[in-house]
Amino acid sequence: MKIEIIEKLKEDVRYKEALTACMNCGVCTAICPAAEFYKYDPRTICNIVQSNNVDEIEDLLNSETIWYCGQCMSCKTRCPRGNVPGMLITVLRKISQEMGYFVNSEKGRQQLAIKRTVGENIINAGYCVHPDIVDPDLHPEQGPVWRWFINNIKEVSPKMGAVYHQETAGALRAISKDTLDEIKSIFKVTGGEEFYKKIEHFSSEKAKDFQSNADYDYMIKVYTTDSGDHTR
Ligand code: SF4
Ligand code: SF4
Repeated sequence: MKIEIIEKLKEDVRYKEALTACMNCGVCTAICPAAEFYKYDPRTICNIVQSNNVDEIEDLLNSETIWYCGQCMSCKTRCPRGNVPGMLITVLRKISQEMGYFVNSEKGRQQLAIKRTVGENIINAGYCVHPDIVDPDLHPEQGPVWRWFINNIKEVSPKMGAVYHQETAGALRAISKDTLDEIKSIFKVTGGEEFYKKIEHFSSEKAKDFQSNADYDYMIKVYTTDSGDHTR
Protein backbone atom coordinates (compact mmCIF):
# COMPACT_ATOMS: atom_id res chain seq x y z
CA MET A 1 0.00 0.00 0.00
CA LYS A 2 2.73 2.47 0.95
CA ILE A 3 4.86 1.62 -2.08
CA GLU A 4 1.76 2.17 -4.18
CA ILE A 5 1.50 5.72 -2.87
CA ILE A 6 4.98 6.61 -4.10
CA GLU A 7 4.39 4.83 -7.41
CA LYS A 8 1.15 6.69 -7.96
CA LEU A 9 2.82 9.99 -7.14
CA LYS A 10 5.73 9.49 -9.46
CA GLU A 11 3.74 8.19 -12.40
CA ASP A 12 1.45 11.23 -12.41
CA VAL A 13 2.56 13.74 -15.03
CA ARG A 14 1.35 16.59 -12.83
CA TYR A 15 3.76 15.55 -10.09
CA LYS A 16 6.67 15.76 -12.53
CA GLU A 17 5.56 19.18 -13.61
CA ALA A 18 4.65 20.49 -10.16
CA LEU A 19 7.72 19.74 -8.10
CA THR A 20 11.34 19.90 -9.13
CA ALA A 21 13.43 21.26 -6.31
CA CYS A 22 11.63 23.04 -3.49
CA MET A 23 14.02 25.16 -1.43
CA ASN A 24 11.50 25.64 1.35
CA CYS A 25 11.45 29.42 1.02
CA GLY A 26 7.74 29.81 1.88
CA VAL A 27 6.89 32.27 -0.91
CA CYS A 28 3.99 30.00 -1.94
CA THR A 29 2.55 30.16 1.57
CA ALA A 30 3.00 33.92 1.71
CA ILE A 31 1.01 34.42 -1.51
CA CYS A 32 -1.56 31.69 -0.86
CA PRO A 33 -5.05 33.03 -0.06
CA ALA A 34 -6.09 29.71 1.49
CA ALA A 35 -3.15 29.88 3.92
CA GLU A 36 -4.46 33.18 5.19
CA PHE A 37 -7.67 31.62 6.42
CA TYR A 38 -7.11 27.89 6.85
CA LYS A 39 -4.59 26.02 8.97
CA TYR A 40 -2.74 25.39 5.79
CA ASP A 41 0.78 25.71 4.50
CA PRO A 42 1.65 24.67 0.91
CA ARG A 43 5.35 25.01 1.69
CA THR A 44 5.10 22.20 4.22
CA ILE A 45 3.19 20.01 1.78
CA CYS A 46 5.90 20.45 -0.87
CA ASN A 47 8.56 19.73 1.70
CA ILE A 48 6.89 16.53 2.86
CA VAL A 49 6.33 15.23 -0.67
CA GLN A 50 9.87 16.09 -1.66
CA SER A 51 11.20 14.18 1.35
CA ASN A 52 9.76 10.92 0.00
CA ASN A 53 8.83 10.01 3.56
CA VAL A 54 5.95 7.71 2.83
CA ASP A 55 4.52 7.80 6.36
CA GLU A 56 4.27 11.58 6.26
CA ILE A 57 2.83 11.49 2.75
CA GLU A 58 0.26 8.98 3.93
CA ASP A 59 -0.62 11.35 6.78
CA LEU A 60 -1.24 14.04 4.17
CA LEU A 61 -3.60 11.74 2.27
CA ASN A 62 -5.57 11.22 5.49
CA SER A 63 -5.49 14.88 6.44
CA GLU A 64 -7.78 17.88 6.15
CA THR A 65 -4.98 20.02 4.76
CA ILE A 66 -4.95 18.80 1.16
CA TRP A 67 -8.60 19.88 0.80
CA TYR A 68 -8.01 23.51 1.77
CA CYS A 69 -6.33 24.57 -1.48
CA GLY A 70 -8.61 26.72 -3.62
CA GLN A 71 -6.77 25.86 -6.85
CA CYS A 72 -6.21 29.52 -7.68
CA MET A 73 -2.64 28.77 -8.80
CA SER A 74 -1.25 32.02 -7.36
CA CYS A 75 1.62 29.88 -6.05
CA LYS A 76 2.60 28.98 -9.62
CA THR A 77 3.21 32.62 -10.46
CA ARG A 78 5.56 33.25 -7.54
CA CYS A 79 7.61 30.15 -6.84
CA PRO A 80 11.27 30.99 -7.59
CA ARG A 81 11.86 27.35 -8.52
CA GLY A 82 8.91 27.07 -10.89
CA ASN A 83 7.08 24.61 -8.65
CA VAL A 84 3.30 24.49 -8.59
CA PRO A 85 2.12 23.49 -5.10
CA GLY A 86 -1.54 23.78 -6.13
CA MET A 87 -1.00 21.20 -8.88
CA LEU A 88 0.91 18.90 -6.54
CA ILE A 89 -2.12 19.01 -4.26
CA THR A 90 -4.38 17.85 -7.10
CA VAL A 91 -2.20 14.74 -7.35
CA LEU A 92 -2.41 14.11 -3.60
CA ARG A 93 -6.18 14.52 -3.73
CA LYS A 94 -6.49 12.04 -6.57
CA ILE A 95 -4.41 9.44 -4.74
CA SER A 96 -6.40 10.05 -1.56
CA GLN A 97 -9.61 9.41 -3.48
CA GLU A 98 -8.33 6.41 -5.42
CA MET A 99 -7.00 4.68 -2.34
CA GLY A 100 -9.80 5.64 0.02
CA TYR A 101 -7.89 7.87 2.42
CA PHE A 102 -10.21 10.82 1.80
CA VAL A 103 -12.96 9.41 4.04
CA ASN A 104 -10.72 9.87 7.08
CA SER A 105 -11.06 13.65 7.11
CA GLU A 106 -14.08 15.92 7.40
CA LYS A 107 -13.21 17.89 4.27
CA GLY A 108 -12.22 14.73 2.44
CA ARG A 109 -15.59 13.08 3.08
CA GLN A 110 -17.21 16.02 1.29
CA GLN A 111 -15.79 14.61 -1.95
CA LEU A 112 -18.88 12.43 -2.09
CA ALA A 113 -21.01 15.55 -2.47
CA ILE A 114 -18.69 16.96 -5.14
CA LYS A 115 -18.87 13.70 -7.06
CA ARG A 116 -22.66 13.55 -6.83
CA THR A 117 -23.17 17.18 -7.80
CA VAL A 118 -20.49 18.67 -10.05
CA GLY A 119 -19.16 15.26 -11.08
CA GLU A 120 -22.46 13.69 -12.03
CA ASN A 121 -23.75 16.92 -13.53
CA ILE A 122 -21.08 16.70 -16.21
CA ILE A 123 -22.24 13.23 -17.20
CA ASN A 124 -25.99 13.71 -16.83
CA ALA A 125 -26.42 17.29 -17.97
CA GLY A 126 -23.22 18.17 -19.84
CA TYR A 127 -22.58 20.98 -17.36
CA CYS A 128 -20.60 20.94 -14.16
CA VAL A 129 -22.74 23.76 -12.83
CA HIS A 130 -26.17 24.68 -14.15
CA PRO A 131 -29.03 26.64 -12.58
CA ASP A 132 -31.27 23.57 -12.66
CA ILE A 133 -28.93 21.73 -10.33
CA VAL A 134 -27.59 24.38 -7.94
CA ASP A 135 -30.35 24.10 -5.37
CA PRO A 136 -30.75 27.36 -3.38
CA ASP A 137 -31.50 25.31 -0.25
CA LEU A 138 -28.11 23.62 -0.53
CA HIS A 139 -26.28 26.79 -1.44
CA PRO A 140 -27.38 29.59 0.90
CA GLU A 141 -24.04 31.27 0.15
CA GLN A 142 -25.49 32.19 -3.25
CA GLY A 143 -27.78 34.65 -1.48
CA PRO A 144 -31.40 35.61 -2.14
CA VAL A 145 -30.73 36.83 -5.68
CA TRP A 146 -29.92 33.27 -6.72
CA ARG A 147 -33.26 31.98 -5.47
CA TRP A 148 -35.01 34.79 -7.29
CA PHE A 149 -33.06 33.99 -10.47
CA ILE A 150 -34.03 30.30 -10.29
CA ASN A 151 -37.68 31.18 -9.71
CA ASN A 152 -37.70 33.53 -12.70
CA ILE A 153 -35.20 31.81 -14.96
CA LYS A 154 -37.45 31.53 -18.01
CA GLU A 155 -38.08 35.26 -18.16
CA VAL A 156 -34.61 36.34 -17.06
CA SER A 157 -32.38 34.14 -19.22
CA PRO A 158 -33.28 35.63 -22.62
CA LYS A 159 -32.58 39.09 -21.22
CA MET A 160 -29.09 37.85 -20.38
CA GLY A 161 -28.57 36.33 -23.82
CA ALA A 162 -28.93 32.76 -22.55
CA VAL A 163 -30.85 30.06 -24.45
CA TYR A 164 -32.20 28.08 -21.51
CA HIS A 165 -33.06 24.51 -22.60
CA GLN A 166 -33.12 25.43 -26.29
CA GLU A 167 -31.40 23.25 -28.88
CA THR A 168 -29.19 25.94 -30.32
CA ALA A 169 -25.82 27.54 -29.61
CA GLY A 170 -25.37 29.65 -26.50
CA ALA A 171 -25.25 29.62 -22.73
CA LEU A 172 -27.59 27.23 -20.86
CA ARG A 173 -28.51 25.45 -24.13
CA ALA A 174 -29.85 21.91 -24.06
CA ILE A 175 -27.09 19.35 -24.51
CA SER A 176 -27.89 16.75 -27.14
CA LYS A 177 -28.07 13.03 -26.36
CA ASP A 178 -25.16 12.41 -28.78
CA THR A 179 -22.98 14.82 -26.83
CA LEU A 180 -23.97 13.28 -23.50
CA ASP A 181 -23.19 9.81 -24.87
CA GLU A 182 -19.79 11.05 -25.99
CA ILE A 183 -19.08 12.50 -22.54
CA LYS A 184 -20.02 9.15 -20.98
CA SER A 185 -17.65 7.35 -23.37
CA ILE A 186 -14.82 9.71 -22.48
CA PHE A 187 -15.39 9.06 -18.78
CA LYS A 188 -15.40 5.34 -19.41
CA VAL A 189 -12.22 5.07 -21.45
CA THR A 190 -10.24 7.55 -19.37
CA GLY A 191 -11.03 5.88 -16.06
CA GLY A 192 -13.39 8.57 -14.77
CA GLU A 193 -16.23 6.08 -14.36
CA GLU A 194 -14.05 3.78 -12.22
CA PHE A 195 -12.81 6.77 -10.24
CA TYR A 196 -16.38 7.77 -9.40
CA LYS A 197 -17.17 4.20 -8.35
CA LYS A 198 -14.25 4.29 -5.93
CA ILE A 199 -15.52 7.47 -4.29
CA GLU A 200 -18.92 5.82 -3.84
CA HIS A 201 -17.39 2.58 -2.57
CA PHE A 202 -15.13 4.15 0.06
CA SER A 203 -17.88 6.56 1.14
CA SER A 204 -20.27 3.67 1.53
CA GLU A 205 -17.79 1.81 3.72
CA LYS A 206 -17.20 4.91 5.84
CA ALA A 207 -20.92 5.58 6.22
CA LYS A 208 -21.18 2.35 8.22
CA ASP A 209 -19.11 4.05 10.95
CA PHE A 210 -21.94 6.57 11.21
CA GLN A 211 -24.59 3.80 11.28
CA SER A 212 -25.69 4.88 7.87
CA ASN A 213 -25.39 4.00 4.23
CA ALA A 214 -24.10 6.53 1.75
CA ASP A 215 -27.57 7.80 0.91
CA TYR A 216 -28.71 11.35 0.26
CA ASP A 217 -29.04 12.16 3.98
CA TYR A 218 -25.51 10.94 4.62
CA MET A 219 -24.20 13.06 1.76
CA ILE A 220 -25.93 16.15 3.12
CA LYS A 221 -24.61 15.38 6.58
CA VAL A 222 -20.98 15.14 5.47
CA TYR A 223 -21.41 18.11 3.17
CA THR A 224 -22.69 20.38 5.92
CA THR A 225 -20.71 19.12 8.92
CA ASP A 226 -18.23 21.69 10.16
CA SER A 227 -16.14 21.03 13.24
CA GLY A 228 -15.08 24.67 13.19
CA ASP A 229 -11.48 23.54 13.45
CA HIS A 230 -10.26 24.42 9.97
CA THR A 231 -9.54 28.12 10.07
CA ARG A 232 -6.84 30.05 11.86
S1 SF4 B 1 7.68 28.95 -3.28
FE1 SF4 B 1 8.45 27.16 -4.39
S2 SF4 B 1 10.51 26.81 -3.58
FE2 SF4 B 1 9.45 28.17 -2.14
S3 SF4 B 1 8.53 26.77 -0.59
FE3 SF4 B 1 6.96 27.12 -2.19
S4 SF4 B 1 7.24 25.44 -3.63
FE4 SF4 B 1 9.11 25.53 -2.38
S1 SF4 C 1 -3.34 26.95 -5.79
FE1 SF4 C 1 -3.72 26.31 -3.68
S2 SF4 C 1 -1.70 26.32 -2.73
FE2 SF4 C 1 -1.54 27.53 -4.60
S3 SF4 C 1 -1.92 29.64 -3.95
FE3 SF4 C 1 -3.89 28.81 -4.62
S4 SF4 C 1 -4.87 28.01 -2.77
FE4 SF4 C 1 -2.68 28.30 -2.32
